[in-house]
Amino acid sequence: TQKTVLITGCSSGIGLALAVKMARDEQKKFKVYATMRTLDKKEKLEKAAGSTLGKTLEIKKLDVCSEESIKLCVSSIPDRKIDIVVSNAGMGLIGPIECQTIEEMKTVMDTNFFGLVRLLKEILPDMKKRKSGHIVIISSVMGIQGILFNDIYAASKFAVEGFCESLAIQALKFRLQLSLIEPGPVITDFERKVFEDGMKMDLSAADEETADMFTNIYIKNYKQIFQVLGQSAEDIAEHAVTVILAENPPFRHQTNTLYTPVTTLKYADPNGDLPIDTFYKMVFQHDKIFSASLNFVKLLRWRSRKSFDLRKASQ
Ligand code: NAD
Repeated sequence: TQKTVLITGCSSGIGLALAVKMARDEQKKFKVYATMRTLDKKEKLEKAAGSTLGKTLEIKKLDVCSEESIKLCVSSIPDRKIDIVVSNAGMGLIGPIECQTIEEMKTVMDTNFFGLVRLLKEILPDMKKRKSGHIVIISSVMGIQGILFNDIYAASKFAVEGFCESLAIQALKFRLQLSLIEPGPVITDFERKVFEDGMKMDLSAADEETADMFTNIYIKNYKQIFQVLGQSAEDIAEHAVTVILAENPPFRHQTNTLYTPVTTLKYADPNGDLPIDTFYKMVFQHDKIFSASLNFVKLLRWRSRKSFDLRKASQ
């Protein structure tokens, strides 16, 4: 039987790629409700959906910052039956906290964290009643490990992870599945928007040393990190589908094997100093080590691509 899927934030990036991938499933396993904050932005998705539009893919309006909007959308779905919900809508924020307003920070928390909470307040009771459902959350490796100048974004994703760790125990009792997908850098509008906002940022509220650190260390390396480590939205969609189709979906799934050594540092030291010292050294003490590690990663990436091509060729 066909499963209904509701995905948030489908006007671009990972949400769009996932909605289209699931709607295009050859066996038509999914009926996808691809939602977005405003329908003015639906053209890109309509184009990508092609012939699936109106069949296995339907576009609906849903703003994760409005309980009313979520209610309206969920109630418009036949029997309110959602088998799989993918909480994907989100936004980033970089820079020194002294240059950000509390309002900007609240918008990030409201979207990334309360957006998920609002969505589940509406959908979870139905899932519990039916004793079936899969809750999939696009979190981030920054839900496990903070990164310089991502204080508020990391906090919002940590909130998501803490919330889900608590909820997962209850979910198990109701035989519901809950999975956190944790991508590293992904090349989408997100990265472009965050970078552009970072470039435009008024740094006058920060001291010279902090402003210099942000501009000459963080911003300077930002693009390169995405170029070297970045995955595509389609890569993340593929990982999400694998998790969704798994017989026993994992609670956590990282999508980027090049990034796992970084998150592993956290589990390697119960005192928590190891990842912080490592990041510190990478960023401040050894600019050369930082570029050497990027080159090393480039090499790893080239080698894994090569062995992937070889494997494909031998099949
Ligand atoms: P994106 O900017 O292309 O997608 C985010 C989507 O969320 C956009 O379509 C945006 O319109 C939507 N959105 C924002 N506020 C909303 C609201 N109030 N209601 C409904 N939709 C709203 O970027 P993306 O990379 O595809 O991001 C998707 C998710 O992936 C986010 O949760 C993000 O935190 C996470 N993520 C991204 C990266 C990355 O590097 N791009 C890495 C790890 C995790």
